[in-house]
Amino acid sequence: MKTAIATVSISGDLTEKLAAIAAAGFDGVEIFENDFLAFDGGPGEVGRMVRDHGLEISLFQPFRDFEGMPEPQRTRAFDRAERKFDVMQELGTDLVLICSNVSPISLGGIDRAADDFRELGERAAKRGIRIGYEALAWGRHINDHRDAWEIVRRADHPSVGLILDSFHTLARKIDPDTIRSIPGDRIFFIQLADAPKIDMDLLYWSRHFRNMPGEGDLDVSGFMSAVAATGYDGILSLEIFNDQFRGGSPKSIAVDGHRSLVYLMDQVRRSEPDISIPVPEMPDRIPVHGVEFAEFAADEEEAAQLGAMLHTLGFRRAGKHVSKDVGLWRQGEINIVINTEREGFAHSSYVVHGANVCDIGLKVEDAGATVERARALGADLFEQPVGPGELKIPAIRGVGGGLVHFIDAKSDLARVWEIEFEPVADAETPADAGLTQIDHIAQTMNYEEMLTWLLFYTSIFETGKSPMVDVVDPAGLVRSQVIENESGLLRITLNGAENRRTLAGHFLAESFGSSVQHLAFATADIFATAAALAANGFSSLVISPNYYDDLDARFGLDEDFLNRLRDNNILYDRDDNGEYFQLYSPNYGEGFFFEIVERRNGYRGYGASNAQFRIAAQKRHLRPKGMPKT
Ligand code: MG
Ligand code: MG
Repeated sequence: MKTAIATVSISGDLTEKLAAIAAAGFDGVEIFENDFLAFDGGPGEVGRMVRDHGLEISLFQPFRDFEGMPEPQRTRAFDRAERKFDVMQELGTDLVLICSNVSPISLGGIDRAADDFRELGERAAKRGIRIGYEALAWGRHINDHRDAWEIVRRADHPSVGLILDSFHTLARKIDPDTIRSIPGDRIFFIQLADAPKIDMDLLYWSRHFRNMPGEGDLDVSGFMSAVAATGYDGILSLEIFNDQFRGGSPKSIAVDGHRSLVYLMDQVRRSEPDISIPVPEMPDRIPVHGVEFAEFAADEEEAAQLGAMLHTLGFRRAGKHVSKDVGLWRQGEINIVINTEREGFAHSSYVVHGANVCDIGLKVEDAGATVERARALGADLFEQPVGPGELKIPAIRGVGGGLVHFIDAKSDLARVWEIEFEPVADAETPADAGLTQIDHIAQTMNYEEMLTWLLFYTSIFETGKSPMVDVVDPAGLVRSQVIENESGLLRITLNGAENRRTLAGHFLAESFGSSVQHLAFATADIFATAAALAANGFSSLVISPNYYDDLDARFGLDEDFLNRLRDNNILYDRDDNGEYFQLYSPNYGEGFFFEIVERRNGYRGYGASNAQFRIAAQKRHLRPKGMPKT
């Protein structure tokens, strides 16, 4: 699989872009004329720079408003083309993209356009140049790839071919299967982009909101399957106009781009088993059967505080690591690990972020296969020396540099708690609070990184994504997106903070980019859990009485029921399926907290409408920075 990316897709100056693109594993770039209009060197120098990075120039673009012009504009368009050919020869590339004419003076007419392309093809052939014709979704006369193909077909010239762009086809809801009847050798180039479903002007949507395949809502894999069926075996290129990417990190955008192409072709290979797809074989997306553990890094004092908090939540101290300062706390199927080692990964995570969740363990079918897929998709594998009595547990780097470990039932990994930990008797056994498992993990990140982690989770694991929702914090919006699997055994909420005055932004800034902001535990009976927690001395986050008035107005609840919710600071929500109950701890440190939830009758959400009340209550608890502890 040969891949390319348009240099406009990422930020930085040309040198930064090329370095990031080459490092991410691309073979080539699309060069826009603007790239060197803003650059000090001429096209010859740009061409040398590209080749010095081990890349090729796969395409030069755009050439606009060419076909179907009346005279004298027609003659001028041919003259302009000759000048573009000069530039291309200096750059060292042989393929130019001509996008369909948007000029109000263009005349239309399939045969007129085909004649223009045949003549230009003659001129291009003399210079060893090829011309690719692309239908813009907002083209004046040609805005559908089927019409562009008809022009290319009638031009009937070996130097004139078709360029397909997933955005232009899918944005206009043209059935991508119509591509299957086009001969693959007449397709000169494929451009790929996804986009979130937004109802807006096509041109504006395209220029500002494109994103990587898999990050948006368009059926890019259906498009690409149709392309693969034609026998096309040329370059796959990303052409992504996105304001956020243009302001983002060149390295991470380039890595995301490459990952998106590998993931896309892996999907196509699975949906078109009879077509040979040039993408490395890898295991299918990994089903996750639950969260096996969450590990905190802390110092001794914080570990003691955390342990006391876990006691009030009904956790027992259950084990001590055979060779390390690592403790195990348990309740139901939940394993919480507290690591106070003075070396190794947890310690370095502590040094950077302070006490934080540094590691998540996921239950998978096959831990080795999971790492194999993650590696194929360009994830960073993690290894550190294994101590005496320890298992080698496969792991990768996740959000905020934290780790994700994989535990399976195929090997000794499933017995990690027996092998690596000695049982301990907990002197002060708390009342079990009925917490059964981790319902969800909430990870906070800068808003710009949300698509990166969305792609990370959805490409490696068998998960889907929900639409993004806005959570109202008094200091600004926080974007929230859910990644979850069908079984509900893996649920992750990604929260994107746009400023540091929001609770999420505050947490992110004060923890220097730590990611897990809350862990939500499941219970089968929220009221029994609330009673047990109270008996253990747990103090829940106090919710404003106004919330309960509002709740009553929204749902018209039974008075006794409403009183029970109010007395226990329990938040309530309902969807088409069932009901949801939420109970929160106060914040610890700079904004980390625990949540306890009960889902009744298959409620699928996360209580988004309650979030603003919860955040307001939590913010009342945050001390202004620099104030003495009381
Ligand atoms: Mg395009
Ligand atoms: Mg939550």
